[in-house]
Amino acid sequence: MVETTAVTKLRQLVEVSDNIVIIPHHNPDGDAIGASLALCGILRQKKKNVNVVSPNSFPEFLQWMPGAKEVISFEDESEKAKAVLSEAGLLFFLDFNGLSRLRSMESVVREVSCMKVMIDHHPEPENIADVIISEPDASATCELIYDVIKKAGWKELISKELAECIYTGIMTDTGSLSYNSSRPEIYHIVADLVGIGVDKDKVHKLVFHSNSFDRMRLLGHALGQKMFRLDDAPAAYIELSAEELKRFNFKPGDSEGFVNYPLWIEGISVSALFMEHPDKIKISLRSQGDIPVNKFSEMYFNGGGHLNAAGGEFYGELNEAVNVFRKELPVFLKNNL
Ligand code: 5GP
Ligand code: MN
Repeated sequence: MVETTAVTKLRQLVEVSDNIVIIPHHNPDGDAIGASLALCGILRQKKKNVNVVSPNSFPEFLQWMPGAKEVISFEDESEKAKAVLSEAGLLFFLDFNGLSRLRSMESVVREVSCMKVMIDHHPEPENIADVIISEPDASATCELIYDVIKKAGWKELISKELAECIYTGIMTDTGSLSYNSSRPEIYHIVADLVGIGVDKDKVHKLVFHSNSFDRMRLLGHALGQKMFRLDDAPAAYIELSAEELKRFNFKPGDSEGFVNYPLWIEGISVSALFMEHPDKIKISLRSQGDIPVNKFSEMYFNGGGHLNAAGGEFYGELNEAVNVFRKELPVFLKNNL
């Protein structure tokens, strides 16, 4: 787990810094927001002035977390975000390991000259911080945040609410402990969190059972009309056009989890979701076993991620992106397995 020397340095940096800014990745998920708000809650108890600045907003199903309403979205409140960043004495980068994951906020963050700490679990970290805690074996950044808090001697500050933030990240990054969660350590952490008072069932319900009617109808449409199989590879995909997204009143977060469904088909080992946005096609990829979809995404979709969960973007038409997948995936599988 996290090395004590890194935590000691992190603690020293916190001690000498008054203004701290915590930054999750673009389109922050349960892990990025959970880790950010948990750390924010701890550092505020240490009497620090802490802000969470996210590159953009995040979905409604994560808005129940303590401090969620105060998160500054760079895309929506750029002046406020810039002001807070310019006064920062210490930055935390959580759940990402390359500044390109900040999208339009990247250049602003590059200009901030204060000390930086990165805590992340993606492979191949870039050298973007003074203290780097990078553990690709960890199932979630929230797992690392818990370890950091514990090793820094701040465990007593973890309230039930902050424990629920940490649990959310572990739950969402492991599909409710259904994948990427075979190391025993994670269950020790979950046991500790439940011991602190986490209402597991409530968190599950808040995150997974608070769908809008539109989202459920979009899911039905995606599975019923827009899911296809490849003839020459164990793969299936869903494609959704901008018109379809509009028809179902698409809101950010509505397609969360859609990419997992094709993997539920017998014999399917690779799954993709293509979504047409005004300026680009956004792609999500998932796989089973040793199939490195992060590598495929790097090669064809300007992206990356984890072995079994990756994403990227394509600048062109929806059908062109889909055709790249249909044509290149079978070749990729032959060469990489
Ligand atoms: P999702 O499909 O849920 O958007 O993303 C799954 C994982 O893929 C994320 O945790 C992240 O690691 C990675 N990912 C998603 N989009 C991108 C992207 O555009 N670039 C890179 N490098 N990684 C991405
Ligand atoms: Mn994560």
